[in-house]
Amino acid sequence: MNTIQGVNLLDVCKEFGTPLYVYDADKIVQQIDKLRSHFSRVPLQLKYAAKSLTNISVLKLVKAQGIGLDVVSVEEALLGIKAGFAPEEISYTPNCVSFEEIQEAVALGVAINIDNLPILEEFGKTYGSSVACCVRINPNIMAGGNTKISVGHSFSKFGISALQLDELVAVVEKHEIDISGVHVHTGSDILDVDVFLKSAQVVFDIAKHFSNLRFIDFGSGFKINYHQEDKSTNLDELSEKLQDAFLKFCDEYGKPLEMWLEPGKILVSESGLFLAKVNVVKENPQVTFVGVDSGFNHLIRPMFYDAYQHIENISNPDAAKKKYNVVGYICETDTFGSERELSEVRSGDILAIHNAGAYGFSMASNYNSRRRPAEVMVYKGKAHLIRQRETLDDILKNQIAIDL
Ligand SMILES: *Cc1c(COP(=O)(O)O)cnc(C)c1O
Repeated sequence: MNTIQGVNLLDVCKEFGTPLYVYDADKIVQQIDKLRSHFSRVPLQLKYAAKSLTNISVLKLVKAQGIGLDVVSVEEALLGIKAGFAPEEISYTPNCVSFEEIQEAVALGVAINIDNLPILEEFGKTYGSSVACCVRINPNIMAGGNTKISVGHSFSKFGISALQLDELVAVVEKHEIDISGVHVHTGSDILDVDVFLKSAQVVFDIAKHFSNLRFIDFGSGFKINYHQEDKSTNLDELSEKLQDAFLKFCDEYGKPLEMWLEPGKILVSESGLFLAKVNVVKENPQVTFVGVDSGFNHLIRPMFYDAYQHIENISNPDAAKKKYNVVGYICETDTFGSERELSEVRSGDILAIHNAGAYGFSMASNYNSRRRPAEVMVYKGKAHLIRQRETLDDILKNQIAIDL
């Protein structure tokens, strides 16, 4: 893949330098449309999970498609408002934050989602029935690719345990809290449709205890293809079964409700490429290393989650394939990919790492005092710089050199 919307990626690297994140705006719009068309039988509200890719131009693009936003911090809520979202279009789903932060979010006017009983109690004491809130349930189900990204099992810190329903109902009744919705989000990279359906069932069993609901929020966690032979969540099957179950529940509940989904990865992952330049090709007796001008400071998923991300040499696409270990320049083991078949790599070539839109830049850091990369969005056939590459001044900005 050498172009996005006809824009040549090697030219983009020449213009903006490397390492570089490049996003295809069309792909993001297509994915939003795809989800919408799959869930067309229910009143759907999509809330883009901002944490997956937080750049303000991406938030604006998402806003322009008429969908809402899911945020996990007050900072993300403020970014969303800056990008043009109305507070009521933003759903605030934090975990283990202070009650002071929840109060800030209430003052902003965003929809509140509470994930533990002590804070719910405080919320009820403070606001009574005057501010509505949603509750996040932990369905006690193991989901997703691995335990780092599974967040709905019994030992997970997320959500109010489904086993604590009695306590939950007691707190709500005591303070006459206006429960607007019930929420579940069991993790990321969930392939198995049954996991979604099982946690939906747990949520329905809890939801029926609250009489003034406006929505049920099924979170996200859709698996996407990172590997060419990978499987993604079967959206056809999931959407049919989840809509059926949801409509049946609404029937029993006696009132039509909205279905909320909070997709992150499925909307932006595929839209993004991470482009890095080859500094050195190093032939050791056992392995040939390709060292690039980046590391886990810029893209941490392969090292943090052992995630596979496809790599391609876009500078020499027609050459014979060889096996390489693609590594970074950080003084730690930072392997982007082992034993990868790439068209022959030469120093100066540009490697494209695929599926870098979600949890790429948003998890980047300044480790080794490296500057974070620039970001470019290809929009209507033109490459737009949407974040400047950092400078050394950015790294020094908040540091104070005391007199010694
Ligand atoms: C991270 C997160 C999401 C998005 O998950 P994806 O796997 O990126 O789709 C949705 N909801 C909540 C509450 C989250 O924390």
